[in-house]
Amino acid sequence: MAKRDYYEVLGVNRDASDEEIKKAYRKLAMKHHPDRNPDNPKSEEHFKEAKEAYEVLSDPKKRPAYDSYGHAGVDPSVGAGAGAGNFADAFGDIFGDIFGGNRQGRSNVFRGADLRYNLEITLEQAAHGFETKIRIPTMAECTVCKGSGAKPGTQPVTCTSCNGQGQVRMTQGFFSIQQTCPRCHGTGKMIPTPCTACSGAGRVKQQKTLAVKIPSGVDEGDRVRLTGEGEPGVNGGPAGDLYVQVHIKAHSVFQRDHDDLHCEMPVSFATAALGGDVDVPTLDGSARIKVPAETQSGKTFRLRGKGIKGVRSHVPGDLFCHVLVETPVNLNERQKELLREFEAITQKDAGRHNPRAKSWFDRVKEFFEG
Ligand SMILES: [Zn+2]
Ligand SMILES: [Zn+2]
Repeated sequence: MAKRDYYEVLGVNRDASDEEIKKAYRKLAMKHHPDRNPDNPKSEEHFKEAKEAYEVLSDPKKRPAYDSYGHAGVDPSVGAGAGAGNFADAFGDIFGDIFGGNRQGRSNVFRGADLRYNLEITLEQAAHGFETKIRIPTMAECTVCKGSGAKPGTQPVTCTSCNGQGQVRMTQGFFSIQQTCPRCHGTGKMIPTPCTACSGAGRVKQQKTLAVKIPSGVDEGDRVRLTGEGEPGVNGGPAGDLYVQVHIKAHSVFQRDHDDLHCEMPVSFATAALGGDVDVPTLDGSARIKVPAETQSGKTFRLRGKGIKGVRSHVPGDLFCHVLVETPVNLNERQKELLREFEAITQKDAGRHNPRAKSWFDRVKEFFEG
């Protein structure tokens, strides 16, 4: 009789978790247990089938073998030798994936590390774009030994621990794990006479100067990538990248919100009352705002397109000017006199000239008298 698929026997999907498999098996085992079904050969059959399926699918080495090769991969009665061979292959692949090892010995080639450089710029530089030169510390190939790490005239030799593979296989019980060779640190080579300039590292710390072009519209935290300007690779691996990360200094006038700018706009008490023109700064010069008569603190004027043209949006944001009516200070006697006179006249019809103050006072009065 052809064997049924183990997953089908347990009634679970092929991607079922160990927990799901266990649960499914328990349910079937309870249902078909011989103690519960005496003299029922069909039940006994089901019970045995479920038990066999569970034994395979709950076993971390048999399940992948079964997944790859079906019953032949796990049934000891079917071509034991071939089964075992297949099984080892299936397993090698799995661990190769997990540990990133490869059995061709190419694992001692590494890509260089990425580097980050923090660049502080002004809001104007962020808005208009900016070119500068930066100096960064980097590891460069040692010119004395040309990167080999061996003293000129000597040669590195193959690592005896890993035979130049850079990786060693550690067996721990059932598991076999590939590890970076602790002796040669994955390079596969040992240096009997190290280069004195780099102490055998093959690389030396250096400063290099790079031109950086910051595109217009960048915002806090944006990064500019300089491909291949990170650390050099090991054993011919590609160099890493350099990321220049932008930080924008606080501005004395503007606060940025994505592509929009905000600023405070102090307006004199008289201008706010009578109306008038006020010049406001923008990132490219200044703009004139017509302040209407009777303008109050907190009113916002929006100057379309006077924000920042975002590096991604390519559409300029707006500039929001928030009015702050400024109470005059340092008044001389003449000014004070005029204001007292002004106030005396105004208070004769407070509800008309200071409606907010009047209604507020009325509410306060009601509160105390009510
Ligand atoms: Zn050197
Ligand atoms: Zn080694």
